Amino acid sequence: MILILNNFIDYNNATINTEILLQGLYLSVNHITHSNTYMHSLPNIPESDKPRVVVVGAGFAGLRLVRSLIKKNFQVILIDRNNYHQFQPLYYQVATSGLEPSSIAFPLRKLFQGIPDFHFRMAELKKVDPGKKVIVTSIGSLGYDILILALGATNNFFGNKELEANSLPMKSVSEAIRLRNLLLENYEEALNLASGSVQEPIMNIAVVGGGPTGVELAGSIADMKQFVFPSDYPELDFSRMNIFIIESAARLLSPMSESASKRATKYLTDMGVTVKTGTAVQGYDGSTATLSNGEKISCRTLLWAAGVKVPDIIGLEKASRGRAGRMVVDRFSALSNHEDIYVVGDQSIMTEEAFPNGHPQVAQPAIQQASLLAENLIRKSKNQAMVPFKYHDKGSMATIGRNKAVVDIGRIHISGFIAWLIWILVHLMAIVGTKNRFFIFINWAWNYLTYDQSLRLIIRQNPSSISEH
Ligand SMILES: Cc1cc2nc3c(=O)[nH]c(=O)nc-3n(C[C@H](O)[C@H](O)[C@H](O)COP(=O)(O)OP(=O)(O)OC[C@H]3O[C@@H](n4cnc5c(N)ncnc54)[C@H](O)[C@@H]3O)c2cc1C
Repeated sequence: MILILNNFIDYNNATINTEILLQGLYLSVNHITHSNTYMHSLPNIPESDKPRVVVVGAGFAGLRLVRSLIKKNFQVILIDRNNYHQFQPLYYQVATSGLEPSSIAFPLRKLFQGIPDFHFRMAELKKVDPGKKVIVTSIGSLGYDILILALGATNNFFGNKELEANSLPMKSVSEAIRLRNLLLENYEEALNLASGSVQEPIMNIAVVGGGPTGVELAGSIADMKQFVFPSDYPELDFSRMNIFIIESAARLLSPMSESASKRATKYLTDMGVTVKTGTAVQGYDGSTATLSNGEKISCRTLLWAAGVKVPDIIGLEKASRGRAGRMVVDRFSALSNHEDIYVVGDQSIMTEEAFPNGHPQVAQPAIQQASLLAENLIRKSKNQAMVPFKYHDKGSMATIGRNKAVVDIGRIHISGFIAWLIWILVHLMAIVGTKNRFFIFINWAWNYLTYDQSLRLIIRQNPSSISEH
């Protein structure tokens, strides 16, 4: 017990909570059980004398977990529906022709070349059977000793089927490419219409959601309207193009400080974006958006950046769910009533004293949670006490456009050019792969110097389908 207390104090400097302490003790003595023969396995994944950890999801959390667990006396199996890791914070730059998709996606096999006791399979998780300690995937079933779910979140249309059918979300690289295509196709199409008001709906763009993603998208489109589109489409009158950002909360960037929110609103307004707060989009039929205040906006393109939810997993129906379906975990990321299953990142919700409603669904909590879980599993394998999670908020930021960003670090609020430089630096450091970092830097420098976003390609599978709307 003294050893456990020391661990608590050394690693966390946190208030000692008896319940957490007992959970740690329970988990620590409850050694990792290792099955030497699994009832289910996938071809070419050998049995091993090491405990098998299956990580599903190669996002920020899953990737960090695998990187911390390889070469640590585990057999690690990573499953993801894609064969690449995606850097979601920069999707909007792919959508607005600022970056190549390949700059923000990294092939998973390349990351783990030559690592012993590591296997990657591109597959979709279909079901979990906690009783048998097996997952069912699109390529077969696989037994585990420890299962870690890091599946992230998906678009939330709050049950509105019309919005789901007609708006454009941006939750994957492929959705970002689709968005780029449609944005550009709109202007190609507008050229073929009689000039004047008839072109307006096709040129207008509405962004739903005033969080960092919505703000960044609206700002980037406003930059294109100012610096790119008029040169590309000289026959179109871009004073007829309206950009709207619609947010149901009382202000933009509501998780950030009031000063960041005010500054972002001013930046966007100065860039010609119409900001509507305290208003929700209630319907959108593909050409007209209806707002909760009764107002109607005529627009061909409605970009959805208004919320995420965690989908259900067959077999885990007994797990408690928090807001937007997030799976409730304890301070060790363990799923209650499910032995040897952990959930991390956006998919999970964990409360602590300073975060009674759970941590924000952003990269840092996912990465920190994953790092600690890896450390804890190593401790557990050595029969040492696990350490409860404590989130260290490193701040938040959003960029609004050229030379414009807002940064909150504790009580410090920075905006303008310095904030924009901080944003660039932080994102360059966070991106996976030296080559990606290099190409992103070159692209950004080029775009900055030339006032141009040069990747304006409409790439589609079937050239005859000019519009997917
Ligand atoms: C457009 C956008 C912009 C963002 N901007 C920021 C930002 O600026 N700063 C910030 O901190 N955060 C930002 N976020 C949030 C941040 O990206 C997430 O919080 C973070 O990615 C969560 O990490 P994760 O590992 O939990 O999930 P994810 O990174 O979403 O990873 C989930 C992984 O699971 C895989 N997967 C999902 N379902 C299955 C399945 N059934 N079978 C197999 N694999 C599956 C996916 O392919 C994916 O690789 C942004 C998010 C979006 C969408």
